[in-house]
Amino acid sequence: MEKKKILLFYPPGPMFQRGEDRCQQNVDEGSAQAMRACNDLGYAAAVLLKRGYDIKLRDFQTELCSNEQMYKEIDEYRPDLIMLSTTNTTVFDDIKLINDLKDKFGPVTVLKGAIFYDPEQAMLDLLDLSHTDYMIGGEVDFAIGEIADFALKGEGRIEEVDNILYRDEDGTFRRTKFHVWGEDLDSQPFPAREYMNNALYTRPDTDDPMATIQTARGCPSQCVFCLTPGISGKCVRFRSPENVMQELTECYEKFGIRDFFFKADTFTINADWVEKLCTMIIESPLYGKIRFTANSRVNPLKKETLEIMKKAGCFMVAFGFESGSDEILKKIRKGATVEQNLQAAKWCHEVGLPFWGFFVIGFPWETKEHIMQTKKLIHRADPDFIEITIALPYYGTPLYDTCKEEGLLAENVLGSDFFHSSMTGTKYLSMDEVVKLRRSILLGFYLRPVYIFRKMGECITHPSVFFNYCKYGIKLVVNLFRK
Ligand code: SF4
Repeated sequence: MEKKKILLFYPPGPMFQRGEDRCQQNVDEGSAQAMRACNDLGYAAAVLLKRGYDIKLRDFQTELCSNEQMYKEIDEYRPDLIMLSTTNTTVFDDIKLINDLKDKFGPVTVLKGAIFYDPEQAMLDLLDLSHTDYMIGGEVDFAIGEIADFALKGEGRIEEVDNILYRDEDGTFRRTKFHVWGEDLDSQPFPAREYMNNALYTRPDTDDPMATIQTARGCPSQCVFCLTPGISGKCVRFRSPENVMQELTECYEKFGIRDFFFKADTFTINADWVEKLCTMIIESPLYGKIRFTANSRVNPLKKETLEIMKKAGCFMVAFGFESGSDEILKKIRKGATVEQNLQAAKWCHEVGLPFWGFFVIGFPWETKEHIMQTKKLIHRADPDFIEITIALPYYGTPLYDTCKEEGLLAENVLGSDFFHSSMTGTKYLSMDEVVKLRRSILLGFYLRPVYIFRKMGECITHPSVFFNYCKYGIKLVVNLFRK
């Protein structure tokens, strides 16, 4: 019997980190972001291949394909089922596309994205879901196989597939059980990288291919703006270090990839786990051949953890410092203090581990004074790179509820992103003032002569890195002044 065909794809258009739940970043407007690998599609492909489906995986967005190219490929392939990975920002355009593809080619249609995680009915009512058959709000690898079997082979019970919405016989959407998570991450196959164009996803500084390896899922923290605790759960589910090593080895040996992003909501949260993985890397044949970057909270964190990470090949760690005001850190329930932010920065400087600082401004309670405290923290911490985003009230987060109560929501919460927030401003500042403050802090940081000379000095013997620094620097300034 001919295999059923499934297309998994990111559509053409502006670049977004579609594979992310909490950071569906607008890559084009970020300060130094590169597209991360489409692991959500890769995981879905791996699961579907195991079930015997014919797969086509296409990241049209990152390949800079045109709509015509996409339509041509779909016309030739004629999939039985299509799955599009959407974001809160692009959802309207994505749904228009799904509707058109359904009309033209008639496949089963699946939308996957954090936006569909136990969604408010009022939010769903904003969307034209007339041509959508299934929505996956949770982890795609725990749902897409069952959806395909049910939709294409009539097998299984769709009501038992967690974290999805499906269309019932009477045409209305039913939601299955949410807030349950797949526990055994080691049992999941690795993303099907043989179907991914791995060369597309690179380190921003060197342009070398960089694979994303998901090491854990979930976060026990309660930051009011973050989707993770709701979507991935408050309990951290780890893969075993052995299982991560197997994936690293496969990437290196089969695909020649030497650079990795260890994707975990907070990679360093379990110091023993990190030590075990890093020790395994150090004792393996991969030692000295691979490099990695990871996210971290500033607490819990030990200097020894940073040391062993650096020894194992970590070239950069990224901290969500968020704010330089203890009052705001408390309001956003970060569970960290300015002092801990500075401590983490100091340890990185002492260990010689470069670090990114991520900051958010524009929270409802913020005055100009609070934002100036964040500016002060940035200069005291002295990260290698920074990004400042504007508070974004995603549906389903406590920040959304606060903004609603305070009357700070713009007309439509969907369609916005971290640089074009759906808030009208803070209680004390207009959005225009927040945007201007962001611009002035970013320029004040990146255009310091001492910073420019230091960075240029670091890469003077690496022309490609030098070129990329210049490229991202120019892009940042153009983006900021364009606004
Ligand atoms: S620490 Fe906060 S921002 Fe980071 S993943 Fe956890 S809840 Fe989200």
